[in-house]
Amino acid sequence: MPTALPTSLMSALIEESLDAVLIVDEHCRIRYANQSLQALCGCSERELLDRSLDALLPDAMAAYHTDYVRILEQGGKPSAVLGKVREFSIRHKNGKAIPIEMKALDLGEHDGSRYFGAFLEDLRPRRRMEDKNAALLARLEQEAMTDALTEIANRRGFEAEAAQMMARAQRSGVPVAIGIADIDHFKNINDDHGHPVGDIVLRIVARRMIEAARATDFVARIGGEEFGLLFPETSSETAIGIAQRIREAIAASPIRADDDCEICATISIGLASMAPGMALDEALANADCALYAAKNGGRNRVETI
Ligand code: GH3
Ligand code: MG
Ligand code: MG
Repeated sequence: MPTALPTSLMSALIEESLDAVLIVDEHCRIRYANQSLQALCGCSERELLDRSLDALLPDAMAAYHTDYVRILEQGGKPSAVLGKVREFSIRHKNGKAIPIEMKALDLGEHDGSRYFGAFLEDLRPRRRMEDKNAALLARLEQEAMTDALTEIANRRGFEAEAAQMMARAQRSGVPVAIGIADIDHFKNINDDHGHPVGDIVLRIVARRMIEAARATDFVARIGGEEFGLLFPETSSETAIGIAQRIREAIAASPIRADDDCEICATISIGLASMAPGMALDEALANADCALYAAKNGGRNRVETI
């Protein structure tokens, strides 16, 4: 059986611990604070020893803490804080709240006094990491819903927006109008001017469509040279009016792809109504039929079903 180590060894270890370590007596007076605790709250050992623990706690917590020590003194049920890992904040000397994770323990009696100990871990590095991860996740989600070329929503973004609009439509009972806009003879634009110029046309068409639509409407690139349109709480007559405005915004003036290249592009639009409860695919198929009619009718037109 190995001999028991002297407590001075334990004390030396605790003094150097990366976790902040604290011991208070039954009157909530601080009786021990290791170096990490001093660094955490910005106070020297002299500033901490014999002071009330309340100085380190936010006001609400201080009241609670005094209370639970009193309960213990009266021999009542031990506080839920003891023995469990809890998250809260302590107050730094400069007044700022520092989020920490704490495990508090009843250390029992010694020379007629009762003592409580606690390990405190600074949660700021973890919180910073969590914030960074949340921001990264939000950026990834945003990127996953954005078309890299035109920088507007992609098909996934379109589907997500359509689902939200549908949920609202189901509550209000007012339908959503849906549309597909397709650039006319886009293959010819690529063939005549090259793919990079075609890309510029796609970007400019996307921008013009968004500018011509209302702020509440939604425009996404859902295919090569195809754009999905969502008009919330919009009657079929109103949707036709807005779609005509979008169509005219493309046809109104040539697109300047570079200094010596102007392209006259037009779009055809097929519209349909998305009744509350209707599946997106069904509504898109209807809009596609209307688009087919617009193409057959001579292009640079709006048709509805
Ligand atoms: P229509 O009026 O019937 O719609 O004729 P269209 O030529 O526009 O239709 P078609 O489907 O024959 O051609 C679409 C073209 O769009 C073919 C494809 O190469 C081009 N395209 C698809 N994605 C992109 C892209 O990201 N950049 C460029 N530059 N072209 C693209
Ligand atoms: Mg086309
Ligand atoms: Mg097409």
